Amino acid sequence: MNSGAAIYFDGATSARQDVTVALGPTSLRIDAADGRLLADWPYRDLESMSAPDNILRLGQRGSAVLARLEIRDPELAAAIDLRADTVDRTGHSERRGRTSVIAWSIAATVSLLLAAYFGVPAIAERLGPLVPQAIESKMGAAVDMQVRAMLDTRRAGAAFECGNAEIEKPGRAAFDKLTHRLAAAAALGMPLNAVVVRKPEPNAIALPGAYIYVFQGLIAKADNVDELAGVIAHEIGHIAHRDGTKSVLQTAGLSFLFGMLLGDFVGGGAVVVAARTVLQSSYSREVETDADAYGVALMSKAGGDPRALGAILTRIGGATEPGMKILMDHPETKARVARINALSPPRAGASLLNAAEWAALKRICG
Ligand SMILES: [Zn+2]
Repeated sequence: MNSGAAIYFDGATSARQDVTVALGPTSLRIDAADGRLLADWPYRDLESMSAPDNILRLGQRGSAVLARLEIRDPELAAAIDLRADTVDRTGHSERRGRTSVIAWSIAATVSLLLAAYFGVPAIAERLGPLVPQAIESKMGAAVDMQVRAMLDTRRAGAAFECGNAEIEKPGRAAFDKLTHRLAAAAALGMPLNAVVVRKPEPNAIALPGAYIYVFQGLIAKADNVDELAGVIAHEIGHIAHRDGTKSVLQTAGLSFLFGMLLGDFVGGGAVVVAARTVLQSSYSREVETDADAYGVALMSKAGGDPRALGAILTRIGGATEPGMKILMDHPETKARVARINALSPPRAGASLLNAAEWAALKRICG
């Protein structure tokens, strides 16, 4: 069952429209009778709304318009149920949930035994670098979804990310150019997923699986492209050193690792713990120093000014990540900046972006 008839209300008018629903791999398309595309809803955004028993009523989570879709065909409803975790009429998700609880319990018991024997930090430190890239990417995607939901406190949905609106697109192009240049110099061996999000704090954060969130507040505080690039290069350092993976393993525990092996960690309690860790805890001074050194080396390789990282750190009080303490004029921040400057060779290349690109990037959040 890949398509069927349904009724659509656009949320703006009270008119009911007969539509065709087509089930794609990741989203469902809603087409008007004349073939016009009315909406394309990702399965993960579907919201099941209360309705009489024989009707499946769906909306899109986080959407500003109250559009809804009504499906009376039981076969089509069941086909959507199979694809969308948020819809559960047949009890499929509940059954899968029960199986996963049993698997998680076994995993948790084994983890506890291993942790008691070896100690969790030692295991995390040793296993971190051994986690295969494919699993790290999968774990990153799960943590990313959770972190995004936690960061997006105003429930802006797609608009939480800057650079998608028409007037923001030149900024997005400049940001992508900058991150591609840094990623090419870093040669991480996996694609870098860097985005700008609407958060006022001057922060950035790196997650396992090469995800980087740059907060709008950081772009506002950056005086030039090298300062922004310096912080991103520092974050790439955390990715290259697999610091996120190690800290997630350490705090979410080994059950997370088993979850990865079992192939099921989306929605598990471990993902929530992992996301909270990434957002609230901070790395040790040694880990930060190593990421700074990496950032300096990467900046000079990419042709930027490595000292710019020190300049912006001084301005934002040394806290480049959520969870870090702001230490304005603090000896620790001063020492950190001095170390960065001591490591930095003079800039070697032309500017990372031209003036027009940097101006566009400054306006990436509208
Ligand atoms: Zn850091």
